[in-house]
Amino acid sequence: MKKLVGSCLCRKVQIEVPDDFDYMGNCHCSECRKFTGSDYSSVGGLSSEKFRLISGDEFITIYPKSEETELAFCSNCGSSLYSRKLKTGKHNIRLGILDDILKHKPNFHIFTGSKAPWNEITDGSKQFENGPISS
Ligand SMILES: [Zn+2]
Ligand SMILES: [Zn+2]
Repeated sequence: MKKLVGSCLCRKVQIEVPDDFDYMGNCHCSECRKFTGSDYSSVGGLSSEKFRLISGDEFITIYPKSEETELAFCSNCGSSLYSRKLKTGKHNIRLGILDDILKHKPNFHIFTGSKAPWNEITDGSKQFENGPISS
C-alpha cells in the first residue's frame, strides 16, 4: 500500500497514512470553515489505527470540539491537521496537509445547506444538505 506523507506549514508535524481512505469528501459546515479558515474542508477518513505520527508530537494541540470530536492543529504554525472521531475511531485528515499525490479525490459534499454564500459548487459530485453520510 502506497503511503502518503503530510505536514503542517512549519513542517514540525509530519504524519503518514496509507493511500486508502474509507471516504473522501468536502465538508461545508460553518465549524470546518472556522477551523480551517477556508470555504470548506476537504478530508479523507480512515481508521485511527492507520494514522501514524512521524514527528512533532509536542506541537500537536487538541481542541475538544464536542464529546465525539477532537480537532488537532500545530501549535507552532496554526495549521489544522485532522479531526479525531472518538466514537467511530476514525481520523479525518485535512487533505490540504498532504505532500504526496492521492490515488482518488473527494467525491461528495456535505453540509451544503450551510455552505459559504460565495462558494459555488461546480463539480458533479453528490451533495448532501446535512451530513455526514459516513463518520
Ligand atoms: Zn506547524
Ligand atoms: Zn465540517
